[in-house]
Amino acid sequence: MKYDFIIVGSGIVGLATARRLQQVKENTHILLLEKENSPARHQTGHNSGVIHAGVYYEPGSLKARFCREGAAATYAFCRDYGIPHRQTGKLIVATNPSELERLGPLLERCVDNGLNPEMLDQAGLRELEPAVKGAAAIRVQESGIVDYPAMCNEMLRQFCECGGHYLTGCEVTGITEHSLEVLVHSRTGTFTGNKLVVCAGLMADRLARMQGLDEGFRIIPYRGEYFRLRPALDGLISHLVYPVPDPTLPFLGVHLTPQTDGSITVGPNAVQGWKREGYGRFNFSARDTLEMLSFAGFWRASLRHFRHGLRETRNSLWKKAYVAEVQKYCPQIKSADLLPHPAGIRAQAVTGEGVLLHDFLLKQTARCLHVCNAPSPAATSAIPIGRHICERLAGAEGAGREARLLN
Ligand SMILES: Cc1cc2nc3c(=O)[nH]c(=O)nc-3n(C[C@H](O)[C@H](O)[C@H](O)COP(=O)(O)OP(=O)(O)OC[C@H]3O[C@@H](n4cnc5c(N)ncnc54)[C@H](O)[C@@H]3O)c2cc1C
Repeated sequence: MKYDFIIVGSGIVGLATARRLQQVKENTHILLLEKENSPARHQTGHNSGVIHAGVYYEPGSLKARFCREGAAATYAFCRDYGIPHRQTGKLIVATNPSELERLGPLLERCVDNGLNPEMLDQAGLRELEPAVKGAAAIRVQESGIVDYPAMCNEMLRQFCECGGHYLTGCEVTGITEHSLEVLVHSRTGTFTGNKLVVCAGLMADRLARMQGLDEGFRIIPYRGEYFRLRPALDGLISHLVYPVPDPTLPFLGVHLTPQTDGSITVGPNAVQGWKREGYGRFNFSARDTLEMLSFAGFWRASLRHFRHGLRETRNSLWKKAYVAEVQKYCPQIKSADLLPHPAGIRAQAVTGEGVLLHDFLLKQTARCLHVCNAPSPAATSAIPIGRHICERLAGAEGAGREARLLN
């Protein structure tokens, strides 16, 4: 059988794409391949669960637009299909003079991005969140939380209900593109499709290379380690509470996140991972590590962010230092309040020059489209990203070109 579309990866990006493709065209034969036994087993199921409002991104950029549209689409999807979510609002808290200086431009950026932020002084902040301490804060009401795995399960249900085929335990090991079709090889057999979309997250560069695409980047895994607050502190905050981010990094800093189940997570940090899909603290893969060490971009990026990396590693190894990051804005949290919580691993595309790509990156050939970099807020933005991918597949205009979707 020849499928109209084959999609690899059932994280939220692959699922949003599959659902959209299946819904826009009746009688389309779509095959969704997943190497694990269920959806959302990697980044999508190991993230903070935040619906980002689109605070930080360049106004007018696709990243800003997709985040705004994605947040609205995510809320609507959750309302329509009963997915656990809550519009909690978010506080970005400045705790020292240099952060205070960066708060003004951040507020302007919120306004430019169409949000309705509110600047709070020390007293206003205290009144809103008595446990949070800071010199000032921005309140963004549009941010919220969601259960992304539940969203994925619903997307998968709809995809299958509309006739989509889902195959788990099927690891793609090779891709051959011909002028009239594309062959997708796996340990369980070869599948033939008219077009292929690859949304492989932490394996994105490997799948691009399977097809011989000269990608010029590697996925470097950055662990995001979390704790959760002990249950007695479940009601401590009602907003998401974030520090003012370092503008040179694509990570937002250790934050407090109330979850849909009532618990509060603390994190994530950003430390070097030594195994792409290894969530245990000391997980190590010789293949992943050797590939990383033999890539010049890894060394350049590590040198460029050496001080930050060192600080994060110290905080990871020494719980007291990790807690100190949180105590800057929530002084009552003590080391004993932090309980273990599973880590996540970011698939971060890094160029040969050592630049961490903040943007989404797609690569397209005549019959294939690879999502090469889909960092945060790709979970929030998944619905418009899926729509965008469908539009690109419908037209041949993108073929052969690299698309840096977001700037
Ligand atoms: C710690 C952390 C916190 C984050 N917090 C947020 C947040 O709060 N809000 C937000 O919007 N975003 C957040 N993100 C980002 C967000 O989680 C990701 O951008 C998003 O989940 C990416 O989805 P994906 O479908 O591209 O990748 P993934 O969810 O990683 O899915 C990729 C899928 O491809 C499959 N696959 C890979 N290789 C193969 C193969 N060879 N054959 C078959 N299948 C294959 C994998 O098994 C996996 O199921 C966070 C990410 C991390 C790691």
